[in-house]
Amino acid sequence: MNKELLAILEAKRSEYSSKMERWMSNINSSTPCDRCSRLLPPGDPHYVFTLRMLSGFDGVIQTSEVSPQEEIATILEETRELSKEELEDTVDLTRIYTVCPSCRKHLLKDPLQRGSQGPSGLLS
Ligand SMILES: [Zn+2]
Repeated sequence: MNKELLAILEAKRSEYSSKMERWMSNINSSTPCDRCSRLLPPGDPHYVFTLRMLSGFDGVIQTSEVSPQEEIATILEETRELSKEELEDTVDLTRIYTVCPSCRKHLLKDPLQRGSQGPSGLLS
């Protein structure tokens, strides 16, 4: 694993830890459900929903008809407007949400948002 990837992973671990600390410090106050905005008083049942989207790699590097320099120039142009955080999120994105039991059920029923195009969820 190269140093840049290790640095990104360490930054993500640190970000995740600080979010969990913030979440733990708010444990005695009402928290809104991140999906439906319903206030969840202290002690109400709720769920912490972690979304993590990692860039996949199947071991295949496609050959290109353009030179590596042109390819790098294209990538730099396409990512020129992105912040450091947005760029990191294209490789490893983590978000933490608090959801009420009703929204948990909705998320588990259709996590891939396929709607009526077939079962994709963990609940029927
Ligand atoms: Zn909700």
